[in-house]
Amino acid sequence: MEILTFGPSQTKKIGEVLAKDILKTSANKALVLGLVGDLGGGKTTFLQGFARGLGIKEKILSPTFVIFRKFKIQSSSFYFFYHFDCYRLKRKEEILDLGLEKIISNSQNIVAIEWADRIKKIMPEETLWIEFEFIDTKTRKINFIS
Ligand code: ADP
Ligand code: MG
Repeated sequence: MEILTFGPSQTKKIGEVLAKDILKTSANKALVLGLVGDLGGGKTTFLQGFARGLGIKEKILSPTFVIFRKFKIQSSSFYFFYHFDCYRLKRKEEILDLGLEKIISNSQNIVAIEWADRIKKIMPEETLWIEFEFIDTKTRKINFIS
């Protein structure tokens, strides 16, 4: 499914709606989002709305020096939201050293990973892949792949 957005607030809104939907579900593994596509395509912007939809008050930033941040979720089915960004990852092993495998096997976690194509081999099969494309200054194409 492809969606065009015409400004950051629209991209955030789509993230927020998805998060609220996800909170109504539960699974026996973590819920994992793989965000891929252009630099400036709106991955972090999308996750700002997504975090808002999860009820997180803290601001979601592009992690520059950290690979991931962890947030508490106040909901009945999920306990934590992890935001990973593989942009600065030098070796795949770095993210494994951070305990990614344990994090994605815990059904209490929601895990969003920017630049997840860089660690494609270790992404779970059930990953919800979302691709972001820069169209022009204000326009982005968001493609829910599956
Ligand atoms: P990425 O994480 O994919 O590198 P960011 O979300 O950090 O991208 O950056 C997207 C930039 O583009 C932001 O500065 C945002 O304000 C701007 N922007 C303009 N139009 C849109 C849109 N339709 N959707 C998302 N971001 C947009
Ligand atoms: Mg980003």
